[in-house]
Amino acid sequence: MYGKLLSPMDSLKQNEAPNSGSHGTNLDSQGVEDKQFCPGYKDVDDFVKYGLGSVLLATKASSGLPQTGDEFDFYRSFPGFQEFCEVQGDQLLLCMSQIMQHHNCRSRMRDRDKLTGLEERFDLVVDSNDVILEKVGILLDEADGLNRSQQPVMPAGFQPPKIVVSSWNRKGSGSVRRSETFKLLQAKNIQRPQLKFKEKVDNSNTPFIPKIFIKPNALKPLPSYFTTKQIRQERPEDLDVPAALADFIHQQRIQEHVEDMFLHPYQFELDRLTVPDSLLSKTEPKMYKPIEETSCSFIETLEDLVALNEKLNDLSEFAVDLEHHSYRSFLGVTCLMQISTREQDFIIDTLELRSEMYILNEAFTNPSAVKVFHGADSDIEWLQRDFGLYVVNLFDTHQASRVLNLARHSLEHLLRHYCGVDSDKRYQLADWRIRPLPDEMALYARSDTHYLLYIYDLMKAQLLDFNHGQPGLLQCVWNRSKEISLKKYGKPIFTEESYLEVQRKQKRSFNTQQLTAFRLLFAWRDKLARQEDESTGYVLPTHMMIKISEELPKEPQGIIACCNPVPPLVRQKVNELHLLVQEAREMPLLKAEIAMQKTKGLMPIKKTEVTLFGPHDTSRVPERPELHLSADELLIKQGGLFSEDDQKSDTDVQQLSGLVACAKIALFEEPQTKEIQKSVSVAQMKARRISESFENPFRMYLPSSGVHINENAKFDPSTKIFEISKRWKLLTMEQQQRELESKKDKQEAKRAKKAAEERHKVKESYKESLQNVATIRQQAAECGKADGKKHKRVPSEAGASTPKMSKKQKIAGKNLETETPQESFKPFDYSQSDLKVFSDTKSKDNSQFDPNRQSQGPKKKKMAGSKKNNSVAGNKSMSYLAGSSNRGLRHNWPKR
Ligand code: AMP
Ligand code: MN
Ligand code: ZN
Repeated sequence: MYGKLLSPMDSLKQNEAPNSGSHGTNLDSQGVEDKQFCPGYKDVDDFVKYGLGSVLLATKASSGLPQTGDEFDFYRSFPGFQEFCEVQGDQLLLCMSQIMQHHNCRSRMRDRDKLTGLEERFDLVVDSNDVILEKVGILLDEADGLNRSQQPVMPAGFQPPKIVVSSWNRKGSGSVRRSETFKLLQAKNIQRPQLKFKEKVDNSNTPFIPKIFIKPNALKPLPSYFTTKQIRQERPEDLDVPAALADFIHQQRIQEHVEDMFLHPYQFELDRLTVPDSLLSKTEPKMYKPIEETSCSFIETLEDLVALNEKLNDLSEFAVDLEHHSYRSFLGVTCLMQISTREQDFIIDTLELRSEMYILNEAFTNPSAVKVFHGADSDIEWLQRDFGLYVVNLFDTHQASRVLNLARHSLEHLLRHYCGVDSDKRYQLADWRIRPLPDEMALYARSDTHYLLYIYDLMKAQLLDFNHGQPGLLQCVWNRSKEISLKKYGKPIFTEESYLEVQRKQKRSFNTQQLTAFRLLFAWRDKLARQEDESTGYVLPTHMMIKISEELPKEPQGIIACCNPVPPLVRQKVNELHLLVQEAREMPLLKAEIAMQKTKGLMPIKKTEVTLFGPHDTSRVPERPELHLSADELLIKQGGLFSEDDQKSDTDVQQLSGLVACAKIALFEEPQTKEIQKSVSVAQMKARRISESFENPFRMYLPSSGVHINENAKFDPSTKIFEISKRWKLLTMEQQQRELESKKDKQEAKRAKKAAEERHKVKESYKESLQNVATIRQQAAECGKADGKKHKRVPSEAGASTPKMSKKQKIAGKNLETETPQESFKPFDYSQSDLKVFSDTKSKDNSQFDPNRQSQGPKKKKMAGSKKNNSVAGNKSMSYLAGSSNRGLRHNWPKR
């Protein structure tokens, strides 16, 4: 069916689809134009129109059904209604399961267990949608002439062109004009902005420590940890001792500061922030200036940034937004900051000014200036992570939209609703690293903040009106916004269990070997992503990782075959992956898993003597003769799940598959005894060496899992473990809680005593910090004199924060830099590019990715419309967890 749907596109691009022949259906309608596309429909449009009509009717009908709750219960009391529902429901399920089976998806929809059944079925539908959409993606790629299997070997650091379709983002409603399917300028030969950063990115598996080192608008001074450069700058890798010892010494040094290190630096101020009456009472909305009549300054020098900060300091409100990039970086990078006042728009090049942005804390934490954001959840975290910026006095229009219960909460909707502006969100996922910034992108970025202050005015008024002039609702928005500004950025931390979380979401049952492979690949991916400073999705997308784990290819080539397109780093390091897969293959299977394999006819039936039951193994089910089905039979039983005849053996299969993923395996393996080591193969040894290098520097912070230490010994002060446990904070959560509470009590007492003393200190410290700011200003002035653009931050103020990368990582980082062809590198000049590509679908695209080719028009890239989709083409996974881009994306995206 999808093959057929694609054929008109194929005919547009006949020359570009050299292997469309492999999809026989493509040729049918292409060759014989007058032949009916499919019985009853003269062409695809006809078919699509009909299909859309049917879907629309079905949607209408379903929304016309009695609502759940009272209404439905009432109707259901009539036997006729009940019967009708059941018949229709069964028909629908049957129809769905047939579609799923057609696509070789699991289709166990028959489970009638009310709650879990529904959840499970929903997941099945999501999974199947993934599979189907992925197929569509691959076919579309092929139709576009991209033959994924013939990619040249690519150097690390370059990405193949991405083509993602998002039909739901077409402009206008209903009309399916292909020319309006948008595409994005391909991020082509963009120099990694990370290379320019004065302060190297810290991807180490250690918690994030605030970058702040000067605290304007403080009511409580910044803890000494942040202001004492010495402590901040003593980094473990600077010590000339083995890495583990260096970590230990560092740990000892910073121990007394641990508490301060993880506090929100403006917690105290935010707790005491009250909304003045002037912000809770009615004011006249102030119309925005037409965007064409508003000046927009592009800020890329410290001088201009300081001037902007001064300007903002005098204002009572301004609007802020950020643009971010997460694909080619482990933690993500903030690329732009947009600021709008009532009079002017500003766009700050935060790649250029990354280390200087902190000066804006003066305006951003000024409690008498309202900062208006829309959907600030991620912005607050990005500001902390990249610049050490905090926001005091935030108004989030997304929260206002929720409190007002508007139909939709996206900025797009607010713009239409309040300003009658039809915004064009096509650039939202653009590659914001592009420099110089194309005009179109700059305009888009401006429009994200330009209207926001007016929207803020209107929403405030409306919140008051809704509540008959009472400030309750408005106060609620202020409170919620404050909650958001109290958010703390947390680095993605790799733990021994991280992989299980991702694996669980996949809803696939893995046997021991598959799960081992998944665990090893997951650790490999995390490590490499941190080291190379790439997103995990770039290193190895989750769906590919699942595929490799499922298939456990015997040959490296098999691993490549699981990936389409092959990620550059996978191609480069396929041998490492191969060893990991081999290690997984050598894991013994559980008894029940062997039974499963037997039934599938994949293994000779042979009784194993050793029974390997793990502590969580519930597999003590007797082997049943009736389970020995042929592969075909089993397929039908697993696939034809709506049929009611297979209840018995079906539950058997269910029982079996339920226990498959139960084995508990530690990610960081403890050293094995020599005896065991002797009995392993060379491949296993190599693989083990790789996995042993996955040391977990964050272990000390983890709640003890019981794997490493005796729990009881930890609480016995006479033991060594107690000592170590105390020193390394290997405490249980409860104990940590207890300690924290007792500490808190003590602190309360202390605080009361010192209150007066403190106030005095604060004044002092603030004076000091003001002096500091002045220095920065002078510096800016000086820099401005010397050279309008280049500026250096005093090295001692580099704002070093965390234990940086380990030595090994450092070396790897060096490799990376030398590997990157910096000298011969010619960034693509986007200012010269024909931005019509954003809407032009006909421009030809070469299927071969050549990083050195510059003369061609920019590569196109259709926009990823799916919120979670930051993966490569072909992955339109609804359930794709953008691992670390997930970092930025770990949380749910607020609706924009
Ligand atoms: P916005 O606030 O809408 O301008 O979005 C800010 C940044 O968030 C963008 O530059 C993107 O990097 C990221 N972003 C926004 N929406 C999405 C989405 N739906 N999926 C992934 N990333 C998004
Ligand atoms: Mn935003
Ligand atoms: Zn934005």
